[in-house]
Amino acid sequence: MRRLRHDTGTAIILITHDLGVVAEMADDVAVMYGGQIVERAPVRDLFARPEHPYTVGLLGSIPRLDVKRDRLPSIEGRVPDMSRPIEGCRFAARCPFVEPACRASVPALVEVAPGHFSRCRRAPLSQVLP
Ligand code: SF4
Repeated sequence: MRRLRHDTGTAIILITHDLGVVAEMADDVAVMYGGQIVERAPVRDLFARPEHPYTVGLLGSIPRLDVKRDRLPSIEGRVPDMSRPIEGCRFAARCPFVEPACRASVPALVEVAPGHFSRCRRAPLSQVLP
């Protein structure tokens, strides 16, 4: 794919759940949840400092050779039922950092660092992450 991109001078849009492929291939990443972009950033920034709780959960569920675990962590709960209207943040039902304001209105996609956007009203997450 890299050669194809180079030879044709085009961009490639990859749609995948495989974060290994993302880390290997992407320059820029848009993370989607419930039909919305919830985070967008250059790939290195996204992996080094995720700024949306869904992305934090995704990255936390990647197997690591340097960490011994009996079970991989997972994101609690279920994806939202998109056939019904959802008020507020679409990740609120699964978010460990949810607060009442999260359910009141849809968070905007806001630039929290140069080129790094998050649809979380509590970003930057350095304020809430341990
Ligand atoms: S806006 Fe609230 S519920 Fe949504 S991801 Fe951020 S902290 Fe979680």
